[in-house]
Parts: sequence; structure tokens; C-alpha cells
Amino acid sequence: MKALTVQNGVFELADLPAPKPGRGQVVLEVLRCGICGSDLHARHHADQLADDAALVGVLSMMRADHKVVMGHEFIGEIAEYGKGTRKRWKPGTRVVAMPIRRNEGLAHPTGFSELAPGAYAEQVVAEESMCFTVPNGLSTEEAALTEPMAVGWHAVRRSGVGKGDTAIVIGCGPIGLAVIGMLKAKGVRHIVASDFSPARRALAEKMGAHVVVHPGETSPYDDLEDRGHLVSGEALFDLGISAMSLMRRSPLPWEPMFRAAELAGQVDAKSAVIFECVGVPGMIDNIIAAAPLRSRVIVVGVCMDFDKFRPSLAINKEIDIRFVLGYLPIEFRDTLHMLADGKVDVRPLITGTVGLGGVDAAFTALGSPERHAKILIDPKQVGGTDV
Ligand SMILES: [Zn+2]
Repeated sequence: MKALTVQNGVFELADLPAPKPGRGQVVLEVLRCGICGSDLHARHHADQLADDAALVGVLSMMRADHKVVMGHEFIGEIAEYGKGTRKRWKPGTRVVAMPIRRNEGLAHPTGFSELAPGAYAEQVVAEESMCFTVPNGLSTEEAALTEPMAVGWHAVRRSGVGKGDTAIVIGCGPIGLAVIGMLKAKGVRHIVASDFSPARRALAEKMGAHVVVHPGETSPYDDLEDRGHLVSGEALFDLGISAMSLMRRSPLPWEPMFRAAELAGQVDAKSAVIFECVGVPGMIDNIIAAAPLRSRVIVVGVCMDFDKFRPSLAINKEIDIRFVLGYLPIEFRDTLHMLADGKVDVRPLITGTVGLGGVDAAFTALGSPERHAKILIDPKQVGGTDV
């Protein structure tokens, strides 16, 4: 089969032996595979990623000098079943699969390991138990975005954001846009998006952001005080004194009143939920400095450098910081069905399709936020590129 390998940052079109399914596995005929920001990063910084992965016990992560087939955002047709499978679906059935698989007795990240070649190829191996059939009516191109959208859905779920909260998304690259789409799908009524690129701001609007700002011109935190968020410590002290004076003027004891108000959620400041989708040093501190009191910061952007922030500032505001990664199988499944049910429309995100021969050019093109969000690979397309 044709596949695209990468080694020391260099792509090469190769003819590799057709993969064989192991126990419990299927071989998929790849229909589309998305190019992810992580792939762009892994191409040139594999050793750093591998060092970090090793610290959490993932030892098979690709290193620069490994020869790897990337690609973890894929959709394919069932082509062949391995031993011990349930053979649930007819050959030719379209499925998306979570990109983790077993090999040599351990599980590995598909598309980031020599032991788990990815879908920048005509065929890819997946675990049968990690495959999900594509509902009728959902196009192959849209279904190919299940994986990155699931990252967004997981971030939204882990954020605990409510429909009445203010959600602020800093950075509108593919993952920021996925977060916006999923916030909208959840029914969050006030979504603010911020990005320097006009094209990305336009996409943020299409994905469902209610307010879109150029952070060099307008602060995404601008109207929070008007929207009922506490932005100053003095206002908080004042509120405390007013509430206590009111309760203590009552003939009833104040303690049960306080506890009842707390149970009713009336003691907590209205929270803003801020999604950091940029991933460069200084972003977290920037957000903490600008956020209203009692905000929750969800870190989705992957910053690979050491970073600094001021804990005293985070303490003074009682900021929650939560880091998120990946998704659960049920989130992956639900994302696929949200796409199929039209709860989120990913079509604006797909800005190009290339054959395996066009991937190198696509990686370069993805460097420009004005032109591209998500480029899909069609491994059957002959050479071609329309990026
Ligand atoms: Zn990805």
C-alpha cells in the first residue's frame, strides 16, 4: 500500500506491506485523514514530545529518527477482520476509530508511534472495539472531523460550563474553533472568541461565537462587569458587607439563611469559563490577569515550553485552572452523532483536500491562518493538491 512516512522531519512516499490485523483488530481502507496541529509539531519536535510522553508512561512515542506513518484523525471502510473480532459490520461499512491500538502486548497512540502506523496511508489498523459506524447521511468529509471535534467536546464537558455562563475562547485555530462549535451545540448563550486573524474570526462566527474580537483592538473581557461578573476585590468586599447587613437585620438567625443561599448557588460569583487554545508561554498568566474573580481557566492549547504565572494573582481571584486532553469513548461517539444530527456544522472548517503527494505542501499551507483551518488527506487522490 502507498503510505507517507516521516523521518527526521522529511516526508517520503513509500510502498509498504499491507497491514495485518492483530487480535481484536480491523484493517480499514482509509477514506480521509485530517492533518492535525500535533502532526505539524511532531514532525519537527518529536523528541520533545517523546520525552514528555515517557514521563506519563507512554514509551513508544515517535522520536525524530524513527520512520513513522502519521495520521490519527481518520475515517475508513472495514476491509479485513483479525482473529477474536465480533465482525460486527459488513466489509465496506464506514467507521471512525479512536486512535489507540495494541501491538506487541502494549497499547500505543496511532499515528505517533512506529508500533502503531497512522492513516497517512491507504490502510490503517484499528481496534474493533474502538470503531464507531458513521450514521447514514453524514458525509465522509464531515465524519473525518470527529476526532478533533471530540477534543473540543471533552474540553467543554470537563469545563463544567453552564448554558448561562460566559464562555471565552482565546485563540481560534482548529481546536479553538472545535471548542466554540461544541459550546454552541451545548447551548451556551454567550460565547466570546478572540483571535488576531480575520479569517479565523470569520470562522469563529460561523461556528457559533456571539461576540468575536481582535485582541489587539478590543479586550475579550470588556463587557464582563456589565454582564454581572465580579471584577474587583473592592466590589466583592462591598457585596459581602451588604449581604451580611441585610441578613443580620432580619429577626431570623443569619446562619441558616447564609447556608441556604450557598446551597442555592447565590454566594458564588457568576463564573466566566475561559478556554486557553493558543499554547504559548505567557498565555495562562495573561488570562489570570484579565479574568474576573472566581473564573475557571481550561487549558486546551499545548505549550511545550516552561511557563510562568503569578500564583498570588490566581489566589486573589480564586481562579480554577484545569488541563484537558483527549476524550472518552462515549464523548467520541456522541461527537460523531452530534455531527450527524446537525448540532454542529463542521463544513466551514474544511478548507482543502490533498493526496499523499500533497501533504508536504499542506503542512506549509497550514502555517498560514488566513487560508486554512483543516486540510484532509484523500490517500486515493493521485498526487494532487488544491491547497
Ligand atoms: Zn489531532
